[in-house]
Amino acid sequence: MAKLLEGKVIAERIKEELKQNIKSLKIKPVLASIQVGSSAGTNSYVLSQQRTAQSLGVEYRLKEFGADVSEAELIEFIQKLNSDKTVNGIIVQMPLPQHMDCRKIIQFIKPQKDAEGVHPENIGKVLYAQAKILPCTPAAVMELLKETGIDLYGKEVVVIGHSDIVGRPLALLLLNKFSTVTVCHIATSKAGKLEEHVKRADVLVVAVGKAGLIKGDLIKEGAVVIDVGINRVGGKIVGDVDFEQAQNRASFITPVPGGVGPLTVAMLMRNLIETAKT
Ligand code: NAD
Repeated sequence: MAKLLEGKVIAERIKEELKQNIKSLKIKPVLASIQVGSSAGTNSYVLSQQRTAQSLGVEYRLKEFGADVSEAELIEFIQKLNSDKTVNGIIVQMPLPQHMDCRKIIQFIKPQKDAEGVHPENIGKVLYAQAKILPCTPAAVMELLKETGIDLYGKEVVVIGHSDIVGRPLALLLLNKFSTVTVCHIATSKAGKLEEHVKRADVLVVAVGKAGLIKGDLIKEGAVVIDVGINRVGGKIVGDVDFEQAQNRASFITPVPGGVGPLTVAMLMRNLIETAKT
């Protein structure tokens, strides 16, 4: 039976460290958050950011825009925050409404205030293994892997999902550890090749957003399974992996909820402390 990788518990430990780091900053760091429109997923992510900020002594300034706000208005507001000396970090909650180009918007955040580590300059530093501000969810996955004690050097790591915020930057972080990384996505599934990649993974990270996508009996005996997916099914939150079956084969597995999510918020706050130092 797999050991549970309880992100919630690890996040509490990290938050204790962060509290000390915040004390030594001698300022109350300010995180400016922008939410455009409203969805159950974003609302609950914002709420968890607010709670964490409060528990750490971080000021959380939320600005809410209607879903019909124009790109120009949003960019103007980001630029105001860039030049506001009282603001240390900025996060734009994703996803943005369809009429907006996320990649374009992100580029207007000053890289030194990019609390989510998503600006191309910060992602570029990940490529060179020189980043101090890391993309939050990939950083959370790396924390969980650290917790297992597994040596990633030469391991077969399969990442399913190739989004800008999870799969792609995570692949870079894993390459920096000398893992042999395979990134799968929708075309892998369409080509009928997903199962064969899952079966040989020493470490499997799934970030797709489809409940039940990964059948538990495909998991390699003793593999580490990190489930990033968040899906609402019949009033419950579940991941992308069939947890019940997978836990019989894996050595470590993350629960959903309580796995990657809480650590993602902790990584956001860790980044904020980094931005507050500049
Ligand atoms: P996305 O929609 O941007 O990307 C989805 C990825 O899955 C793409 O690479 C796509 O090609 C791939 N995909 C889709 N269908 C597939 C299939 N049948 N087989 C293989 N690959 C397939 O998603 P995202 O923003 O990266 O989020 C992915 C999931 O992770 C969502 O459930 C999201 O809610 C969750 N998430 C969780 C956290 C967290 O902190 N826990 C953070 C970010 C995202």
